[in-house]
Amino acid sequence: MEYTNAVLDHFRNPRNVGELEGANAIGKVGSPSCGDKMEMYLKIEDGIIKDAKFMTFGCAAAISSSSVATELLKGLTIEEALQLTNQRVVEELGGLPEAKIHCSVMVEEAVKAALEDYEERKKQGKA
Ligand SMILES: [Zn+2]
Repeated sequence: MEYTNAVLDHFRNPRNVGELEGANAIGKVGSPSCGDKMEMYLKIEDGIIKDAKFMTFGCAAAISSSSVATELLKGLTIEEALQLTNQRVVEELGGLPEAKIHCSVMVEEAVKAALEDYEERKKQGKA
């Protein structure tokens, strides 16, 4: 299976790239098999994700999955974001080659890691 047009579009013109100033939820994960690395930045206010950005070093599947995820995340509650699965991301991309599914799993892990980071900051009164 080739990459879909949606994958190529998000790979060539990724949305929401960069470090997010004032982020209070940061998740950093890696996928050793592709050498992909991803950082997810979220700004959460009143339980809602107000802004999302990412920095991903990796293959086209990793970058397009990250890009789509940041678009899907904006406006979600924390509970909704916890339910964002890699299948949803893949669906939004119109599919990924079987060998590249793990790159979208990495994005789901980055979101969960960011939300854990947020909970930790909140406990420490730093969120
Ligand atoms: Zn990859």
